[in-house]
Amino acid sequence: MKLKDADNLYYIGGIVRDEILGKPSFDIDLTYVGNAIEFAQNIDDVKILKINEPFGTVRIKAENKEIDIASTRAEIYEQAGHLPTVTQIGCSLKEDVLRRDFTINAMAKSVKDNKIIDYTGGLEDIKNKKIRILHDNSFIDDPTRILRALKFAVRFDFSLDEHSKELRDKYLENVNYDMSFKRVKKELIETFNLNSQAAYDEFISSKIYKLITPSEITKSQLNIEQLINKYIHLINPDNIWLVYVGTIRDLDNLKPTLTKEEQKIISDAYTATEKNLNNDYEIYKTFENMKAETILLYAVIKNQKVAEHYLSDLKDIKIQITGKDLMEMNIPPSTKYQECFDYILKTKLYNPNLTIIQEKSLAKEFFSTNC
Ligand code: ATP
Repeated sequence: MKLKDADNLYYIGGIVRDEILGKPSFDIDLTYVGNAIEFAQNIDDVKILKINEPFGTVRIKAENKEIDIASTRAEIYEQAGHLPTVTQIGCSLKEDVLRRDFTINAMAKSVKDNKIIDYTGGLEDIKNKKIRILHDNSFIDDPTRILRALKFAVRFDFSLDEHSKELRDKYLENVNYDMSFKRVKKELIETFNLNSQAAYDEFISSKIYKLITPSEITKSQLNIEQLINKYIHLINPDNIWLVYVGTIRDLDNLKPTLTKEEQKIISDAYTATEKNLNNDYEIYKTFENMKAETILLYAVIKNQKVAEHYLSDLKDIKIQITGKDLMEMNIPPSTKYQECFDYILKTKLYNPNLTIIQEKSLAKEFFSTNC
């Protein structure tokens, strides 16, 4: 049998939604009503690449594409906020769909005849630009859905339906912090790497940040999106989210999920806020080895002017003179070298056009008065 002729095989979730919205989809999710592994083993011209027996999923190579096929499955949340337990592999399509997050993500399309199966009203919600959960316990079972709702709302310019919103707000008044913060982090990355001020404003004003911290947070006065866009060429696109999420001072819950580099990007910004930066030299020395993300976070939480002054005017100023030059000037190497470089840098920050010749005469001047 050929893949495209298979009964009981459906495109599912995001790919169906994106097609209806006329948007490109990044991954192809297929689900088989029954056991996908056994099904894949009986398809012609297919190479099985990977099998995950407990979840009933299989990765195949067909027509030169890698495709994941899941078995329909039913799940229950034994522990709210954590991964669900699979209760049945090979359940009905309806049961599979009902474990999903929102109606817009719960549609299936038959591979064989392109028929759309919409048990939960996803088509209507797409028409009305609404994000709607499938049952009242949805956010309690899996609070990461609160962030997923924000992400999809911003991506598609949709809004959360009123009842879902009420349930979300009720949950946010009493968050159960015994949850998988690894999954929260994944959604934070996907939401805030969209670089959207609207997402941030909603995150703060609707108190979605309560998922991370019980503290109260007020909105930053700055337009973070604009700021990032101005310096986007300096920032690693994978780190944009840190400028947004870093504005939350209490990240204790999230901390165990952050890499050393991510922690440093944030903590360097807070350390810098404790310094008095009174002149260009102090600003330069504070920021010279910091990532652009850290400096932008500093701009948001402390002083935009200072951060932008560094990024726009000071960052690229470098002295040219080296230790080799000083040795050639018969100055014996010592800790005075660094003092001399700092002395030249102080001058250069006010006169960036200083030539190497002028730097050398400043070095001479320095050593004649400091030795
Ligand atoms: P994207 O375009 O962002 O990849 P997607 O809808 O494909 O969107 P995925 O995170 O890849 O998102 O999830 C695939 C599908 O799995 C979703 O469409 C949804 O049906 C289901 N799903 C994902 N996360 C959850 C969740 N937390 N709770 C319930 N169902 C979920």
